[in-house]
Amino acid sequence: MDAIIKYLDKSLDYVSHELMKDTLYITVKSNLESVPCPECLMESSKVHCRYKKSFQDLPIQGKKVVIIIKNRNLFCVNPECPRYTFSETFDFIDAKAKKTRRLMDEIVRVSLTQSSVSAASYLSETTADIKKSSICNYLKKNDNLR
Ligand SMILES: [Zn+2]
Repeated sequence: MDAIIKYLDKSLDYVSHELMKDTLYITVKSNLESVPCPECLMESSKVHCRYKKSFQDLPIQGKKVVIIIKNRNLFCVNPECPRYTFSETFDFIDAKAKKTRRLMDEIVRVSLTQSSVSAASYLSETTADIKKSSICNYLKKNDNLR
């Protein structure tokens, strides 16, 4: 399982998993000692607090996947920096997103070939829980990027 998590990001370690109905819940943790502040880029390992963050990813073995991470909120250690604390972020997901970028890509790919109603029902059955309205938003966003 650790190898699968490493495909998503090398800085994540597998902790545990639990299968509930059609969804595999995978708990992971960051293996990075320190993280750069997004403002001044100075590395910090001084933890302010941790909070649980979860997001959906691509399915594994026909099971939907939800990844859970106890995300770190760190102090910026640079006294010159205007930023007091910041959260650890990852390249595979937008800071506030609930789905990984590769899952969003898959949702857009499936939705381009059918109506958003049938895409929502197909995806909810096979890939990830998603509403029709979210598909419409992703498609609009995807259009703007072209
Ligand atoms: Zn800083």
